[in-house]
This record gives sequence, C-alpha cells and structure tokens, in this order.
Amino acid sequence: MARPTNITMCSFCGKSHAEVKKLIAGPGVYICDNCITLCKSVLDKELSAEVKKTATKFTVPKPKEIKRQLDWTCIGQDHPKKTLAVAVHNHFKRILQEPPPPGGWVAETELVAALRADVEIEKSNILLIGPTGSGKTLLARSLAKTLDVPFAIADATTLTEAGYVGEDVENIILRLLQNCDYDVKRAQMGIVYIDEIDKIARKTENVSITRDVSGEGVQQALLKILEGTICNVPPQGGRKHPQQEYIRVDTSGILFICGGAFIGLEKIIARRLGSRVMGFGVKEEEQKLSAVNRDKILQHVEPEDLIAFGFIPEFIGRLPMTTVLEELTEDQLVSILTDTKNALTKQFAKLLAMEGVELEFTPDALRELAAQAIKKGTGARALRSLLEKLMLDVMYDIPTSEDISGVKITGAVVKGEVKPLLQRKTDQAAA
Ligand code: ADP
Repeated sequence: MARPTNITMCSFCGKSHAEVKKLIAGPGVYICDNCITLCKSVLDKELSAEVKKTATKFTVPKPKEIKRQLDWTCIGQDHPKKTLAVAVHNHFKRILQEPPPPGGWVAETELVAALRADVEIEKSNILLIGPTGSGKTLLARSLAKTLDVPFAIADATTLTEAGYVGEDVENIILRLLQNCDYDVKRAQMGIVYIDEIDKIARKTENVSITRDVSGEGVQQALLKILEGTICNVPPQGGRKHPQQEYIRVDTSGILFICGGAFIGLEKIIARRLGSRVMGFGVKEEEQKLSAVNRDKILQHVEPEDLIAFGFIPEFIGRLPMTTVLEELTEDQLVSILTDTKNALTKQFAKLLAMEGVELEFTPDALRELAAQAIKKGTGARALRSLLEKLMLDVMYDIPTSEDISGVKITGAVVKGEVKPLLQRKTDQAAA
C-alpha cells in the first residue's frame, strides 16, 4: 500500500518520522539519524585515505637538515651524525628511485623516473661502533623521528637461525609492522636498529663441532633481510588478517642500523696497524697502542678487522657504512644533563613545577653527576639512575609538602654529604 504523501520521511532511506530517532529538515528534504551516521562514516573513510596518501608523500631531507635535527637530541658524536645524515639521505633517494612495490611508495615524478633509468644505487645499511651509553640507540631513534618513518629496536642476542629456540629474524620486521599499525607501505620505509650486533660474532674457540647457533647462524639468517628480500612475516599476536597467513614485506627499503660496543676490536685494529705500518712485533705494538685512546684506534676500522672479530664477509658486506661513536666526556655529560630537548634536569624540573616547586642544580652538582657517571663506565646511561636515586626522597615528599617552594641540588648533595636544600614558603614570608 502506498504511503500517504503528507507524512514526513527521510529523503534518503524513505523511513518515516515514527521509524527513526531523529529526522532533520532541510529546504524540501529530510534526513534521518541513521543516514547521517552512514554519510559520516563514508566521509571519514575518504578523508583518512586522503591523509594516508599525503603521509606517504615523502621528500628526502638534506643531510644538513638531518644533522641539525639530530643535534637537538644528541650531544657530541659529530662524525657519526654526519655519516648517518648522508647515509640516510642517500638511502631515501635510492628508495624513491626504485620501482615501487605494488601499491607504490610515492607518486612517481619525472625526475624519479629519469633517475631510475640510470645507475643502480646499492643499499647502504650502517654499522655503529661505540661504547655503551654513547648514543647509538638514541641516534637511530632520533633519525626515525626526524624522517617520520616507523622504527623498531631488536636485540641481536635474542635472535637465532630459523628452527632453533629463540626469535626468528622475521620478528624484527613484525615489530616494525606493529609500530606502524600494520601499514605495510610505511613499514617498508622504516628504520630498524639491531643492538648488540657484536655479540653474534663467531667465537674463535667455537670451531664448529656443533653449529654455532647464536653466532654465524644468526648472521646468515640476517643476510637476506639486510640486503632486501620479500619477507613473510607471521602476524602472530597482532591484528587478525583473515585471508593471509603471512604478511609480505619487502625489506629493500628498510634501513638497518646495527650497533655494538665491539670490546676488543681495538686490539685487532692495533695489531693490523702495528704490523703493517710500523713493522713492530705484534706484542710490542699492542702494548704500545693500548696506551693510546681506544676511540682513536677504532677510527681506523676496516672490514677486515670486523671479519677478524668474527663476522662473515657477506655480513660485513651488507653494512657498508661504518662509523665510530666516542666515549662521552665530562663536559658532554653535563651538556646532556641540561642542554638537549628532553634533558634529564629539565624533565625533573617539569615534574616539580607541576607541584609549584622550583628545582635548581648548581654547576658543581652537574659536574659531580657527570664525574660519577664516568666512573660507572656506562656513559650517559648512568646519569638517569644517578638522578633518580638522588631525587627519590624529594619526589616522594614534595607532593605532600605544601610548604616547599624550591629545591636546590649542590655538589655536596650529589656527593651525599648533605640533603637537598629545601626552600620553604614560610621562610620566604618571614624574610
Ligand atoms: P647506547 O649507545 O648504549 O645505545 P643509548 O643511545 O641507549 O646508548 O643511550 C642511553 C641513554 O643515554 C639514553 O637515555 C640517551 O638519551 C642518553 N644518551 C646517550 N648518549 C647521548 C648523547 N650523545 N647525547 C644525549 N643523550 C645521550
């Protein structure tokens, strides 16, 4: 039976006023709440697709810009920063030049098409050699942030070759996927930092009666993903992907940065330099060079030294850029405490400011903290634990002590000779 024409109904779905919660009138038309929700979801979908499209449009930042960004978060390490800036700049130029994976990285410009027709640029992963707490992870993380690409950290010591107990190398890529919400296109332009890479060097004593599960096998397993391959990643633990058992990720656009302390590498370099350059006996030269700064010797590292350290040549071949981070000096540690964007003292000051309390570190307090950190031998890593310990009582008491308006940390406080100096509102009022 036809509806009477005098009742108001939604011009889109035809439901009457009685059948819906709300009917909104326009000039000569009506729309119900259901249709509004539907239209909204259509719009949202289209808008988010547009946002994603612009997000994948990627311009390659200039090396100087990259370095300037790194300077914000990382103190010192000028040469590694320059090396990374150049490597990353070239890496992303190379990605833009490569045929995009199905779906495409970016809109292809004429320039990109012209570049592609020409020389093939090889992938250039990076090896960071430097003592613990010198900023290796920080640099890798800051790079990813600067470029606004997904980032994942893996620990080489947890990896094993397929079939053994431990993590498969594909899990590194899984982590990258997880960190960008399973957006494969973005993951394919990500940065992976593999820490403790020196721990998968083949031990010389371990001359294969059984297989070297943690060393050479892992190097072999990493070769393919470092070079660039289509990696089948099991989406275990992640979102459900009904039609696929594996997510296929092309690793050729992923930049791998490997880092490690490489304890003992300096001896291998010294031996090579000694016997070649000066013609001394090995023992004599080792002793002579051991007095020289370890950092300086490490600057001379060559692929052959890394092979002697226990890496297979193919593995080293896939890490063509090597750069050495220096041990941080006392001045640099002071600077880390105060100057970087998220400097530790700024963080504590902000926490106390939320309670209306002003925090001050005197210059001798900063120096003492840096000196103590150097003694611990874990670089800038020690600074946080030292500060946390130092500030524990203050952070515990302040939220319940309304009378306190300021806290001063001096050198004597850091040495543990006196307690942090508290300024009280009542004292100020009396003065
Ligand atoms: P590692 O070299 O062992 O990877 P990290 O990069 O993890 O060291 O640094 C450990 C901590 O010390 C981080 O909190 C980091 O912010 C800080 N840090 C280390 N080096 C620097 C540096 N050069 N500049 C600023 N902060 C640093």
